[in-house]
Amino acid sequence: MENVVIIGSGCAGLTAAIYSARANLKPVVLDGNEPGGQLSLTTHVENFPGFPDGIMGPELIANMRKQAEKFGAEFKAGAVTEVDLSKRPFKVTFGKETIETKTLIIAAGASARLLGLKGERELIGRGVSTCATCDGYFFRGKPIAVVGGGDSAMEEANFLSRYASKVYLIHRRNEFRASKIMIDRAKANPKIEFITPAIVETIHAPEGLVTGITLANPDTQEKRELTLDGVFVAIGHIPNTAVFRGKLDADENGYLLAKHGSLTKIPGVFIAGDVQDHRYRQAITAAGSGCMAAIDAEKFLEGHNHA
Ligand code: NAP
Repeated sequence: MENVVIIGSGCAGLTAAIYSARANLKPVVLDGNEPGGQLSLTTHVENFPGFPDGIMGPELIANMRKQAEKFGAEFKAGAVTEVDLSKRPFKVTFGKETIETKTLIIAAGASARLLGLKGERELIGRGVSTCATCDGYFFRGKPIAVVGGGDSAMEEANFLSRYASKVYLIHRRNEFRASKIMIDRAKANPKIEFITPAIVETIHAPEGLVTGITLANPDTQEKRELTLDGVFVAIGHIPNTAVFRGKLDADENGYLLAKHGSLTKIPGVFIAGDVQDHRYRQAITAAGSGCMAAIDAEKFLEGHNHA
């Protein structure tokens, strides 16, 4: 029987692991499908406090993992396929193994939706990005594209226009899902050019760095080539919460809802990071919420004389 099982090994999960390991709770961290989470997909992180020269995302996450291991956190590979939260101890199944735990911290993160183009995933950090706040700065004075028609795409296009020489906003339809105010703001921005309806057919990167894209008009099939250095895919995120569906409160997009802080409606189950946050989605906010969940789990165990 474990004291604390943490689902997810991104910034939130690892911070929860550091805190609960230092509280001597010997947490078990289940790595998940994307060990290290979204930070392991990004390059230079320049906005995580404490690193004035920046740090590579994979290095930051490796350091956090080392720190958690140093205090006694145990890591197990595998993605969770089933949870039983109907009574304590909770049961968590991953691979062929089921473990029982007194508390559960869910920090399974969210995955950026990708376009599904050939080479797209491999080009993340080489011109393809899913995070304007993380990577915008690298495109100073360069032309880039933002793909998507929701609020995220509008927000990212506006944000990126501070750095980029030109921002193409590419959306597959002429109508937008984004709110009017966000569309109006983007349209009023002289650096942003809307191209609709347009589908990105190919991302060109002859030498491993993005140099351009080919667009197709879905109505006329007409093609258009754009020369640019970056493609920001802003077509939404998918929280990794399918396994908790019907067991915990969630909004219409599947993001888990906290009752208060990291607490859910089930005593002993806590949530942290992007599973419960579609607004901030930063490494530092994920880390902060991981810390909160660990402290809440510790207090819960104290209250139940478990620790
Ligand atoms: P979203 O509203 O779901 O929009 C996703 C966009 O991506 C849609 O325009 C969709 O096109 C497009 N898309 C999806 N799959 C695609 C594909 N395979 N190829 C090309 N385009 C594709 O997602 P979001 O913009 O990330 O927003 C998520 C939630 O957060 C929303 O509720 C939003 O209001 C909120 N949000 C709010 C703010 C703010 O208020 N400041 C900022 C960001 C996000 P279609 O429209 O054709 O389906």
